[in-house]
Amino acid sequence: MRRRYALRFSPALVEQPIVSKLARIYDVDINILNADVASGRGGKLIVELVGTDENLDKSVHYLSEVGVLVSEMVKELLFKQEACIHCGACTAVCSPKALSMDNSAKLVFDVSLCVVCGLCTQACPLRLFEVSHEREA
Ligand code: SF4
Ligand code: SF4
Repeated sequence: MRRRYALRFSPALVEQPIVSKLARIYDVDINILNADVASGRGGKLIVELVGTDENLDKSVHYLSEVGVLVSEMVKELLFKQEACIHCGACTAVCSPKALSMDNSAKLVFDVSLCVVCGLCTQACPLRLFEVSHEREA
């Protein structure tokens, strides 16, 4: 699993080797995507954590416990549903079944099943789907 987070540190926490401990304690790989951290003031890191679901959950719990403010970075699927012509092409690529056809041959979009894989953006002939920029949840 890969997840991206924004981590905010107070000035006191910036001095501590908190992020490097994650790799040792929870067997999580850490890629720092962006850093705005300096001694004497707080800071913010955008990181990608790679590990098992369980270890990622434990890592976030650990970070929160020591006082780091953690927000997951998320993307959303934007869909211009009003322009849909119900051709069904997008349903063929949507493995989680977020896109399906109902009994009247109308497209149904169940946003709760969408994992934002982005495959439908290419499948739709009218290009009605778009994946948003990443933002903090
Ligand atoms: S982004 Fe992926 S999961 Fe979501 S609706 Fe499109 S194909 Fe389905
Ligand atoms: S591929 Fe596009 S037009 Fe066709 S059903 Fe899906 S969203 Fe509608």
